[in-house]
Amino acid sequence: MNTKRMIAIDTHTHSIASGHAYSSLEEMARAAFDKGLGGFVLTDHSPGMPGGAHLYHFYNLRVLPRTIHGVSVFLGAEANIINYDGEIDLEDDVLNCLELVIASFHIPTCSIGSAEEHTSALLGAMQNHHVKVIGHPDDDRYPFDVQAVVRAAGETKTLLEMNNTSLSPRGFRVGSRGNYIKLLNECRKQGVMITLGSDAHYSSRVGECDYSEALLKELNFPEELIANNSLERFLDVTGIRL
Ligand SMILES: [Zn+2]
Ligand SMILES: [Zn+2]
Repeated sequence: MNTKRMIAIDTHTHSIASGHAYSSLEEMARAAFDKGLGGFVLTDHSPGMPGGAHLYHFYNLRVLPRTIHGVSVFLGAEANIINYDGEIDLEDDVLNCLELVIASFHIPTCSIGSAEEHTSALLGAMQNHHVKVIGHPDDDRYPFDVQAVVRAAGETKTLLEMNNTSLSPRGFRVGSRGNYIKLLNECRKQGVMITLGSDAHYSSRVGECDYSEALLKELNFPEELIANNSLERFLDVTGIRL
């Protein structure tokens, strides 16, 4: 156990509250501890996703202790981008209860449009100051202007996610590897930060970033542009207080 990993905090995880994930928060925390993580962000799906968590799930996250079974648990959500203006399906009163919000395209909640429309949606989502991460910007079905999105991420201090589940051979998003190579090269060029997320939907997957790590090594991607490879940097970049 406690093997050396590239990440200290997993910024994308789902519990049973997401409706199509299979572990309790306790099980996730124990798995994270066993793997030597410092913590993880609980980012259950917002209500727009079929079977997603109820709004009360997000309002009530404040009842959780910060530390569960020896790891820090941060309060988050994976919200759905619902239109090409980049609006998401959580309102400010809920967002104010959360520490880290991911905004993502999902097939059930945002129709597939043109690259211009997806770019507009991503730029709009990044203008929402609650949105700290763009989730899995890697899917051929939602192409976008990479240069413009990376520039806006830098300007708005939004992290672009590298999603391990997308890169897994069992992943269901299309063309991720090639899309990540383009995205990472642009991030390096513009000095824009990324975050690594497992997108775990089962406890043993929490903290898994092996496919992402392999690609980052292959590209010799600079470690200083990875926001979650230490607790200190994660807190500094996100502004979250322990
Ligand atoms: Zn999911
Ligand atoms: Zn997602």
